[in-house]
Amino acid sequence: MASIPHITVLGSLNMDLVAYVPHRPLPGETLTADRFATSPGGKGANQAVASKLAISQGAKLSRPRPSSSGGATTTSSSPTAHVSMVGSVGSDAHGAQLRANLTSYGVDVSGVVDAPSGTGTGVAMIIVDKPTGENRIVLSPGANHAVQPGQGQDAEEWVLRRLRVDDVPTDAPTNYEEGVTAHSVLPDMLIMQLEIPLQTVLVALAAARKKGVEVLLNPAPASPLPEEAYVGLAHLVVNETEAAILGGLGVGNANALAGDEAALERVSRGFLARGVRNVVITLGGKGVYYMSSAGGLSAEEVNVDKKGLVPAEKAKVVDTTAAGDTFVGRYALEAAVARKKGEVFDIEKAVREANRAAAKTVERPGAQDSIPWRDELE
Ligand code: ATP
Repeated sequence: MASIPHITVLGSLNMDLVAYVPHRPLPGETLTADRFATSPGGKGANQAVASKLAISQGAKLSRPRPSSSGGATTTSSSPTAHVSMVGSVGSDAHGAQLRANLTSYGVDVSGVVDAPSGTGTGVAMIIVDKPTGENRIVLSPGANHAVQPGQGQDAEEWVLRRLRVDDVPTDAPTNYEEGVTAHSVLPDMLIMQLEIPLQTVLVALAAARKKGVEVLLNPAPASPLPEEAYVGLAHLVVNETEAAILGGLGVGNANALAGDEAALERVSRGFLARGVRNVVITLGGKGVYYMSSAGGLSAEEVNVDKKGLVPAEKAKVVDTTAAGDTFVGRYALEAAVARKKGEVFDIEKAVREANRAAAKTVERPGAQDSIPWRDELE
């Protein structure tokens, strides 16, 4: 295995269909959009791109983006990381475009398989009210819900085969970095969200724990998790709403959480007590709170190693889509590099780097297309 870190994202791919409208459509109203755009998205795919771009030079190439025909772009640089996407798309134009887009950024899509026929690619229909910037989103998961073992298949074996990315139908990526032969080993870091079936995520968590694969869980959209999901979890990254729901405060208290460091500390300690090693709570324009465990856990007595509140970077906000995903991808890269090198993970550094990258994302429209390259942040 090459000495570069290997990150695998098991998660969703969606095509975002975005209409910018002059006002919120009323019931029964047919409204003409001022502008329409399609944009590759899906939390899983966004986070894969963010991890890859966190270590790729691209800005000096005039921020190249994939052409509509999906032409590949060179992003190789040194040092590098191997980032694999594992998920499912429909055999339709959106699916082909999503694969091509990931490939153009250097993400390995050999683990992105076609859903059974008749199942389309996941789609997010987004209506943006231009005067307020407020959006309304309808998500059709499509192929993302097909990311699960078939009847009678052994779930753990099914997941492990995909995590190794060596035994799935291939759609050979066009721009692997030279010399990377990562396909027969498990990744250094597994990233997951909750836009694929929860059961698949739970099986993957258990399999990763058993095999010693470090996991970053971004439980979005928030859904109650069984207690064993937290046990031994290396990284839990949540926004304030997810923190409030999963931390037992109730969604109504999410806003209060952002302005209350004592409450953030309480909630974070609660996650450490449940077995999480590093907790990160993103707070939108207010920044990020983090806490790491020094081990020796018990529900009553939590041993805190590091904690802190990092304010958001100044940004001219255009569109916050994928800010959280950029944060996750950038942070995960730091963690994977530290793990690969056998170094102690510096959570504060990871949070600061991710906070900087996410602030760049909010200054641009779109999801994957708004994520910064490494050299844009230097
Ligand atoms: P999304 O679902 O839109 O991707 P999220 O709800 O998961 O976002 P947020 O907490 O809104 O995540 O934002 C993630 C991170 O992005 C923040 O912690 C911060 O680092 C950065 N960020 C978000 N909004 C701003 C802003 N207005 N200015 C600067 N940075 C921001």
